Amino acid sequence: MTGIRVAVVQDGAVRAVDPEQPVFSAFDLGPTRGDGVFESLLVQGGVVHKQLAHLDRLDRSARLMDLPGPSREQWEELLRVLTEDGADGDAVLKLLLTRGVDGQSAFSAVGTRAPLPAEIGRQRRDGIRVLTLTLGLPADLRGGAPWLLGGVKYLSYAVNMAAQRHARANGADDAVFVSLDGQVLEGPTSTVVWAGDGVLRTPPTATGILPGTTQQLLFRAAAERGWRTETGPATVAGLHAADGVWLVSSVRGAAEVTALDGVRRRTDPGLTARIAALTGIG
Ligand code: PLP
Repeated sequence: MTGIRVAVVQDGAVRAVDPEQPVFSAFDLGPTRGDGVFESLLVQGGVVHKQLAHLDRLDRSARLMDLPGPSREQWEELLRVLTEDGADGDAVLKLLLTRGVDGQSAFSAVGTRAPLPAEIGRQRRDGIRVLTLTLGLPADLRGGAPWLLGGVKYLSYAVNMAAQRHARANGADDAVFVSLDGQVLEGPTSTVVWAGDGVLRTPPTATGILPGTTQQLLFRAAAERGWRTETGPATVAGLHAADGVWLVSSVRGAAEVTALDGVRRRTDPGLTARIAALTGIG
């Protein structure tokens, strides 16, 4: 399998392993409970994009779940091992940290590299149709309920994947979660960004959404070039009224929303190209 690599941190050492070999025990709390955290990183031209931001967020997610793990140096070494063959094609890296096997190991740490899926190029180029779906929680609930793991990139993404399947089964490409009280939250694997009246906006992380590294980079780069940026609540009606709406994430970059809940949106390829350039992805 070309472009595929797997590496582990085991007994304090980082090593590449045969990608065909299992790296988790059948009793590991990662696969059995979804008890762990992860990061997805983009490699472009052989260079890992936003490495520092991803390792910072991995540390934060692990801390919020009382999860021990490798040192920063070991994670950096793992990323080096995954990319050391110098392959310059675009790729996706995943870092996985689980709670290991009860009573046997404090954690399991694994990294993978795989080629960038072709679908990503299509989404960057043609945009995406989005369906809004309720998450069934008030927007202010997760801020005061740490056990719900708001803002933590934990492994249990079954609901997020089910939301994407539901969207696809209903004529869309992806979903956006909305709170019980009608606030726009985030995509199952992306941050929502919209533009209106010359301001670039995104929902507040106080709603329990994941702090997006792509959105943060985009807003910093945009502000440096004189754009106004704001964090604030939005409704689905607000997204319909916006000049442009994008789902942004590390692997996808920026994908313009071309239809929302079956209603076609006017699109602005020039603006999307500027947003994409600001993310440095694509
Ligand atoms: N929100 C969720 C739930 C995600 O899973 C992701 C990406 O994986 C994002 C937002 C976007 O985060 P980032 O830009 O750091 O990839």
